[in-house]
Amino acid sequence: MTQSLHRGRRAKIIATLGPASRDPETIADLHEAGADVFRLNFSHGTHEDHAASVKAIRDLEKVTGNPITILMDLQGPKLRVGTFKGGSVVLQTGSHFRLDLNTELGSEARACLPHPEIFAALKPGSSLLVNDGHLRLKVKSCGKDFAETEVIVGGVISDRKGVNVPDVTLPIPALTPKDKIDLEFGLSQGVDWVGLSFVQRPEDVAEVRAAVKGRAGILAKLEKPSALDHLDEIVKLSDSVMVARGDLGVEMPLEQVPVLQKRIVRACRKYGKPVVVATQMLESMIKSPVPTRAEASDVATAIYDGADAVMLSAETAAGMFPVRAVATMHRIIGHVESDTHYLALMQAGHQETEHSPPAAITAAAGQIAHTLKAAAIVTFTSSGSTTLRAAQERPDVPILCITPSLAAGRRLGLVWGVHALVGDFIHSVDDIGDVAVKGAQRAGIGKEGQALVITAGMPFGKVGSTNMVRVVWIGGETKTS
Ligand code: PEP
Repeated sequence: MTQSLHRGRRAKIIATLGPASRDPETIADLHEAGADVFRLNFSHGTHEDHAASVKAIRDLEKVTGNPITILMDLQGPKLRVGTFKGGSVVLQTGSHFRLDLNTELGSEARACLPHPEIFAALKPGSSLLVNDGHLRLKVKSCGKDFAETEVIVGGVISDRKGVNVPDVTLPIPALTPKDKIDLEFGLSQGVDWVGLSFVQRPEDVAEVRAAVKGRAGILAKLEKPSALDHLDEIVKLSDSVMVARGDLGVEMPLEQVPVLQKRIVRACRKYGKPVVVATQMLESMIKSPVPTRAEASDVATAIYDGADAVMLSAETAAGMFPVRAVATMHRIIGHVESDTHYLALMQAGHQETEHSPPAAITAAAGQIAHTLKAAAIVTFTSSGSTTLRAAQERPDVPILCITPSLAAGRRLGLVWGVHALVGDFIHSVDDIGDVAVKGAQRAGIGKEGQALVITAGMPFGKVGSTNMVRVVWIGGETKTS
């Protein structure tokens, strides 16, 4: 079965795999329903689980004949309290609570926080948020191995609950020892993207880039206030970015999340970096076959903002209706994209970035495609950079990417409007018209008499060299203009 590449929508869907979905049949059903990218969440599951998922996805890729994208998501420095007598205790608002390095079971008076580096960074007045922000502690005094806190908002605290420290830049490296092991494992499995959790500073991205050594793209998850203080630098240094609204909404006041989402999406579009909006998009579908109207609207907002991809987490990893959640997201996106105002809104959000020949040529290709009502923009690329530029313009036609690089084709699965065809199709520049037409036919794009607008960089293979635009027509003799 060689599936049509063209799903009839531009924004992409990321489905997180987990116990509810990681068997090969469900992976195939999720892909059929619209999942373009599969996310392996290394906060959960064993290496055997993830290896089996990668195998199932790569087997499916052989069946469909189209590249499929895999994102590995590293756990990052997630802080957790230790364990308690009886598994949990209740902290009363206004009481005192001590955190220390003592590994004995915790009580109403104290608990272990097994992260010495955190104590070094805390100051009187710092806030500690426990269990997704349900409990709030304020530091009264602290030393190198303890913090005395006041319980500002009490509640149940139980074994290994997560702790967020929003107003402190933690003096910890970007990769924990577990992340380093997971990263090498994921790269050995051939993942396409590496998601980096709790990015705090631009140096975190640089550190991971040095470890990844070009074997995958780097996706920075923005969930810390300190990352937002360096937003432009982090976006420029990363290959893509995620608005990780789960932890972002714990670290920052909830009401700031919608505004930050728009700010991050704008910054990514400015620098031509793919951007993902994630978390709780169809949360009620974990248990219900239909989402709430508000959730449908949330997905739509991300699409109108121009996100490259929207993500499902527990909905597909652990929910009761994983395939239905993807199909629902697919329908919502399709409907928004058919709104007559959609492209105008998207293009209004486009900001010109550079005054360079590649930027000018790519913008011109979008204009030509619009004027000719072309079937597609066809980008020839080896690194993916020509294609990324085309996507940055948010043209009103699909973007067909033709590349000899399987790695580039797979990575581009995350990118708005792009359909990648991988193969050794081009031997001389004279071939590009024929190859573009055959590629469009294979992808199910366009009909006889429609134009294709081709962009490429000569010589092929030189990153950032987009310097050519050409028009060809589908059907009959391939005439070029
Ligand atoms: C998030 O916090 O929104 C997120 C995507 O990260 P994780 O699922 O790893 O917590």
